[in-house]
Amino acid sequence: MADPDREIWDGMLTHVRRHHPTLCRHWFSELEHAGIDDGSVYVRADSEVRRDYLRRDCVQAFVEAAQNETESLIGVRFLGPGEHAPVHAPGRDAGRDASRAHGPGAIVEPKPNEQPGHPEHADPAAAGLSASGSAEPGQDGPRGAESSLRMPPPLPTTRRPIRYSSSESASEASGTIYLNPDYVFDNFIIGEGNRWAYAASVAVAENPGRSYNPLFIHGDVGLGKTHLLQAICLRIMEARPGSVMHYISCDGFINDFMHAVQANEMEQFRHRFRDVDVLVIDDIHFLTSRERSQEEFFHTFNSLHGQQKQIILSSDAPPQQIPQLEKRLASRFQSGLVTEIMRPTFETRVAILFTKARLRGIELGQGVAEYVAERFETNIRELEGAITRLQIQATVENRPIDLPLAHEAFGEEPEEERPRPTIDAILDAVCRYYDVKRGDLLGKRRHQSISLPRQVGMFLAREHTRLSLEEIGAQFGGRDHTTVIHAVKSIKAKQTESNEFAGTVQKLTGQLIKASRRN
Ligand code: ADP
Ligand code: MG
Repeated sequence: MADPDREIWDGMLTHVRRHHPTLCRHWFSELEHAGIDDGSVYVRADSEVRRDYLRRDCVQAFVEAAQNETESLIGVRFLGPGEHAPVHAPGRDAGRDASRAHGPGAIVEPKPNEQPGHPEHADPAAAGLSASGSAEPGQDGPRGAESSLRMPPPLPTTRRPIRYSSSESASEASGTIYLNPDYVFDNFIIGEGNRWAYAASVAVAENPGRSYNPLFIHGDVGLGKTHLLQAICLRIMEARPGSVMHYISCDGFINDFMHAVQANEMEQFRHRFRDVDVLVIDDIHFLTSRERSQEEFFHTFNSLHGQQKQIILSSDAPPQQIPQLEKRLASRFQSGLVTEIMRPTFETRVAILFTKARLRGIELGQGVAEYVAERFETNIRELEGAITRLQIQATVENRPIDLPLAHEAFGEEPEEERPRPTIDAILDAVCRYYDVKRGDLLGKRRHQSISLPRQVGMFLAREHTRLSLEEIGAQFGGRDHTTVIHAVKSIKAKQTESNEFAGTVQKLTGQLIKASRRN
């Protein structure tokens, strides 16, 4: 005999997939339907991180689906592993009647510390949460309904000493970071630009405090720093559930610090940041020009480092280039491993697109992936945005995601039709500009008068062709890809150091683009 609750659940999933495709993840098919009663459909995720994702981003979509399937004003509650629907709740029909009386959207995940007798109320830190509960995910239900709700009885939670969320005192807007279940190592595509950052992250996750300390990852926006930081946290949570880990944005740290100063709560603040096994601070470059928080962070750093506790930092620039960062901090940051993430190659971008699409349970054709990877070169976040756009367009028009759809979605000439300079044109332009012979440029001489133009050539090839690092190395007299990485880095750094040099690179770039348009 068919299970009517099961049918409702299957219908809900179909509804969410159809109407909210961008929220869906492939693991939704692993969600467990944990019963219907007390005005709610209970849904269990197999990890707290997945549960938190559902609570944070998916409440509305699932409530809409539940109400659509049951034709009643029922709510949805997401449970983690080991959490159960309240046993003494009224039966399903009674629950529905009750929910009818409570008005639409009758679902709110109550704050743990609003639930009398809830373990987190009694001992928030020990339950692995911030003291105020401000960082507890899952408060994003239709808030308007909150006051009219009868709160369900407390749910038992697993007690873990991991504070993976953010600032205790800061508001959600100021630094709370949730772990994203998508950001695991398995979903991180390794390419030439991130190989070392990835390897270092895995090493640190497997042996916190022992391999590289601090681990400092830097790179432009949207290149995967936060992904790696969270992957480390997720791996540590899995492998060392006893670890105390604090993961926070730099803003969160600063706000927390300022709050602690004002409220005269420095002791609690120090406990929060120094009595941990792993401290992870995202976007540490925001620490600039706030002297007191720099000072405090300096002491936090020393305290943790002295105890061999792991420190992991990310930044948009290497330590010595963070403006207004005190020298002593910059040198501390450099004392472990500093590793840069660079822009992904075309092949890596295609692979990332496939991974992102798979996570969302959709299949991209090779042509569509290549088309998108061509258009978005600098920032992986844009690639994700592109998938979202394709998904939305496909849903609205009820069409498959194919090349014609992609062309329409982006409504412009595909970038593959954009003229690109050839490696030959680059070599020519560089030789002409610096007045050097091609043979010298590709040869072994290392004199500055040759090595600088050679590096500029490699940089331009990297920026404007689709060649991989290895291919560029080969074109420049059979050099190793690490030489190309070094050249790109050094030219980038030189451009920031000297406007004049930046102007030269720009001039060469302009010439190349103009010439390739003419051809
Ligand atoms: P950053 O912190 O450097 O600004 P993020 O870590 O937020 O960048 O990355 C932006 C997006 O790109 C995220 O969705 C992330 O998962 C994705 N991303 C970045 N690098 C990779 C990679 N190598 N493989 C898969 N996804 C990646
Ligand atoms: Mg980031």
